[in-house]
Amino acid sequence: MDQISIIQPDDWHLHLRDHTALATTVPAAARGFGRGIVMPNLAPPVTTVAEASAYRDRILSYRPAGSNWEPLMVLYLTDNTSTEEIRSAANCGFIYGCKYYPAGATTNSDSGVTDLANIHAVLETMQELGMVLQLHGEVTDTDVDIFDREAVFIDRHLLGLAENFPKLKIVLEHITTRQAADFVTSATDNIAATITPQHLLYNRNHMLAGGIRPHLFCLPILKRNIHQRALLDVATSGNKKFFLGTDSAPHAQEHKESACGCAGCFSHPAAIELYAEVFEQAGALTELEAFASKNGPDFYGLPYNRSSITLRREPWQIPSAVPFNDSQIIPLAGGNSINWRLA
Ligand SMILES: [Zn+2]
Repeated sequence: MDQISIIQPDDWHLHLRDHTALATTVPAAARGFGRGIVMPNLAPPVTTVAEASAYRDRILSYRPAGSNWEPLMVLYLTDNTSTEEIRSAANCGFIYGCKYYPAGATTNSDSGVTDLANIHAVLETMQELGMVLQLHGEVTDTDVDIFDREAVFIDRHLLGLAENFPKLKIVLEHITTRQAADFVTSATDNIAATITPQHLLYNRNHMLAGGIRPHLFCLPILKRNIHQRALLDVATSGNKKFFLGTDSAPHAQEHKESACGCAGCFSHPAAIELYAEVFEQAGALTELEAFASKNGPDFYGLPYNRSSITLRREPWQIPSAVPFNDSQIIPLAGGNSINWRLA
């Protein structure tokens, strides 16, 4: 197969940041995708419908001319989120979920929820309204090893959450472990997961063996190869519960190549092509459309995009750097040659 056409894919988890960063991130997000679930972890975070509306306007002001790409907004849950705010979010027409960050889990997550018990009423309201809960599924307890934080989150919090809110639509985002893949596979149909390109392409050896590669550092952190294998299996299986979410996140080169580097990979310059490589290597290119273009809209209750994209087998080089504010970003796999190219 030298060419494949699929329904235009969507990205069900991405980071755009704000203000001048949007000049880089919005065109990159719109490059291959029809829609994107925009994470609300700005500083300060997007916690109200009014803030989400203003942020959406700023994003759209950077949308390239002629593009129909649509930002799907998300509210950031805090200990103080009210059920009234959830109801107005559900009615506003541009908010598609609420994000749970355990306080301190990742970039700008300090305002996150300190205890799930604090948002019990909010979760009940979301369940009633059919609003999606997006979960950063890691505990932040300092006594839990960073490689175990996702698996421990499932045991300590997610099992109980799924039991207490049996109809709540939950996306376990950017899953990284066999435990998460198994949990979602065996869960009821209201529970799904997104998977990033980096967690399909790499394991922790790629990041740490023979020298540290800060541009592969993201959270949840890359795990050992048995987990990468489990993610590849579910992503390429055709299972409707797994879909595309890049977690693409821009960090300037100097903030990654640092004594205390930031977490996050900027994959948008070649995101759909990187997924295509993964699916081809797994002998499952025919499953790419379900993972990238159908399973997400089906879960969110949205129509498929009416446009399509074509990928051609035509080797090209992913840009080794992308301008960003007054600096630059080193994209995921930047400088590498890749076999599939967006037509
Ligand atoms: Zn993220």
